[in-house]
Amino acid sequence: MSPTEDHTMQPKTSESTKRIPRHEHRVRTVESGEARELVRVVSKRFGVMEPDMAFNRRRRTDTGQCWAPRWLAIEQYGEGRIDTWEQHHRRTYPQNGQIRLGTTTSVRTLAHELGHHLVHLLEPARTPAHGKVWVARFDDAMELIAERLGATIRD
Ligand SMILES: [Zn+2]
Repeated sequence: MSPTEDHTMQPKTSESTKRIPRHEHRVRTVESGEARELVRVVSKRFGVMEPDMAFNRRRRTDTGQCWAPRWLAIEQYGEGRIDTWEQHHRRTYPQNGQIRLGTTTSVRTLAHELGHHLVHLLEPARTPAHGKVWVARFDDAMELIAERLGATIRD
């Protein structure tokens, strides 16, 4: 069988052509500067304070953290524990919350943490961390990020 014939034998399903951009989007990464800019855009669009950002070059692209704003942390843990934390670390707990990421981070991770930030600032205090409300906020963040990055498919 010639290579040409072999090629024509390939199944041409729309599924296999769609899978490629989806996959690319899922693993797409951004550097700290771009991540910071995307956080700014999403915060502004939803009218919430920007979180403090912390980047670590040793953190994996698929892991992140989102800290609640200081007032919410006090509501959740009590003022005593936040005072103790501040004395121990000799700095104030992040006023508007904090997102911690790797220097290079996947777009999915960024949207994940932004979802938490939006829940912290826009939803009731005891909203479950990874529940339905958070999924909706994750989608909100991902949609804006995809729009900004020019991606047509979100995941
Ligand atoms: Zn999470």
